[in-house]
Amino acid sequence: PARTRFAPSPTGYLHLGSLRTALFNYLLAKCTGGQFLLRIEDTDHKRTVADAEQRLFDDLRWAGLQWDEGPEVGGPYGPYKQSERSAIYKEHAHELLHSGNAYRCFCSTERLHALAEHRHKLGIATDYDRTCAAIPREESDDRASKGEAHTIRLKVPDQYPTYRDLIYGTFHPLKRRGHVTESAFEDPILLKSDGLPTYHLANVVDDHLMKITHVIRGSEWMPSTPKHIAMYQAFGWEPPEFAHVGLLVDEHGNKLSKRNFDTDIAAFKEMEVFPETLTNFAALLGWSHKEKSDVMDLKTLIQNFSLKFTKGNTTVTFGKLQFLQRKHALRRAEPGTGPALDEMVHNIARLLTSPDSPYPDWKQVVGSPFPEDYICSIIKADAENYTNSNEFLYRNAFLFTPLRPFSHSPPVATASDIPMRAHMLSQVEPQHWDKEHLMQKVRDMIDGREEGRKGSRDVYHYLRKTITGQEEGMRIFDVMMILGRRETLARLGVE
Ligand code: GLU
Repeated sequence: PARTRFAPSPTGYLHLGSLRTALFNYLLAKCTGGQFLLRIEDTDHKRTVADAEQRLFDDLRWAGLQWDEGPEVGGPYGPYKQSERSAIYKEHAHELLHSGNAYRCFCSTERLHALAEHRHKLGIATDYDRTCAAIPREESDDRASKGEAHTIRLKVPDQYPTYRDLIYGTFHPLKRRGHVTESAFEDPILLKSDGLPTYHLANVVDDHLMKITHVIRGSEWMPSTPKHIAMYQAFGWEPPEFAHVGLLVDEHGNKLSKRNFDTDIAAFKEMEVFPETLTNFAALLGWSHKEKSDVMDLKTLIQNFSLKFTKGNTTVTFGKLQFLQRKHALRRAEPGTGPALDEMVHNIARLLTSPDSPYPDWKQVVGSPFPEDYICSIIKADAENYTNSNEFLYRNAFLFTPLRPFSHSPPVATASDIPMRAHMLSQVEPQHWDKEHLMQKVRDMIDGREEGRKGSRDVYHYLRKTITGQEEGMRIFDVMMILGRRETLARLGVE
């Protein structure tokens, strides 16, 4: 069983990319019978956004990604919020200090700045020259006890560690620039001068203490991973497995961001994208499966999950989102989906009955009782075309707008005998107003005409155009059922 975690920093809200990361971790935990943890990495106070944490909880729960351990639910390795674990990080930084794997750095920010600039000009790969690594232990202890400001840095091994990424294979950290290196990368700061941990220390200590077995995260963290491995080695710990996933980019290869796509989860919610649509959509971004259909709810995703991620970045195209939304709408309209269908009905009803309803005359068609059953039957008949309440209402506007014969553009076939034949529909008695009888009657209409079967398209076209005022839409017999006998016949002008 895998123990995975989603470790967001509350510096912003959940967006498509981070939802995907959370989802993959969730799926791996669930498909192996393990646990999914949520950990809040709030070590950077300055960048913390006030309501980000609560929004993260809400959005994850909305998407169905309930965590087994973490804030609000607890667990054996808490607290799960890094700002409440400062003592643990300090203790661990000191452990490395004592074992000689870390050292205090007393360099001022000014010195570090100037140094970095100088070394950059010389083409040296790292910013820091390790001056403080040479300070004898006693002197370092002495200066610290006198209160001199310092950070604690990891002393990285001369040979930088490589690691095997589950997706990218063996990873050798790239030299950032130039070719001269005392060490392949910076001695990373573990503890800042205010005694608080950096991301690297807190992340590694927590993954170890929380017994994380697999880390799935964005490829932007790949260059940090050798540092993390070096830290695991310094502690003498077994590192978890790493699986990095590529970034999400738009058609032009730009990283998805608020600017080029509003991918905040709130934006999807506002568009009334179903949570199961969004998780389905996110799962397919850079992950492949063997199923025939791409349409999967969370349960099916769990059943089919494996770490088959594509290397490199994934282009997001939003057409697929619409496709999946329609498919999931169809599922919601199946019998027994209860609240999922109710939510759709509710959204449409709210829009329809609001003070600025797009179809204020709906009562003339639907009658005065609250239109829930009416809406429900429309959704059931046309769910395959549902995207959101607004579009759906627009698409089916004729079911909420009083139409009388030819109050709209006259049907093409008025010159023929079809309008006369429409009277045949009034022969269907109220108690027989069902699809079967209606289909039979329309067949009779067609058969009795000179053109016979050949001209049947004209009949259907006439019925559709007269009853709905549209050229396209849901199946005409469904329309007749939804509108009912009286309204249908009135629209045909035959009552
Ligand atoms: N706190 C980091 C972030 O916000 C976590 C990265 C990781 O998963 O290690 O992305």
